[in-house]
Amino acid sequence: MSKKYLNKICAYCAESVSTAGDHVFAKKFFLEDKRSNLPQVPVCDKCNTDKSKLENYLMTILPFGGRHEDAHKNLTEMAPKRLAKNTRLHKKLSAGIGLFRILQSSGISARKTGIRFRNSELWKSVSKLSEYLVRGLYCWHHNNVTLEKDTYVKAWPLSANEKNIFIQIL
Ligand SMILES: [Zn+2]
Repeated sequence: MSKKYLNKICAYCAESVSTAGDHVFAKKFFLEDKRSNLPQVPVCDKCNTDKSKLENYLMTILPFGGRHEDAHKNLTEMAPKRLAKNTRLHKKLSAGIGLFRILQSSGISARKTGIRFRNSELWKSVSKLSEYLVRGLYCWHHNNVTLEKDTYVKAWPLSANEKNIFIQIL
């Protein structure tokens, strides 16, 4: 492992000494042929463990809602292997399968097979991972800054009104 990420201040908690380099976006979020040159930051043992738990959950769940070009391959090839290793999550998702009335972009609703997620658990995990991403990617990797340990970083899903403002800015 590169010494570049060892014995530094952890990019995430800004408190403990790093023991490894961490891919800010875990390699397993990507198809195997698209994992090169992912940004890394120094990470301590605790943050590495805590972030890995979030990633293992989200890398299995998020492909179900993915719309990018790799989402289908990710879902059909990688998600089954992950679910085979995580019987608890597999049972939980299987219990949520059903027919749901879904409002399509055309404005017409249709009944489709889907999986019901516990939104609060999903958003809590996405928000927490997003906070790691802000500290690791935006601060440490792009701007060469480690935030102070008591710096407040919070991520949350946008309301409909906030989405409109965000879209107008883009
Ligand atoms: Zn840390």
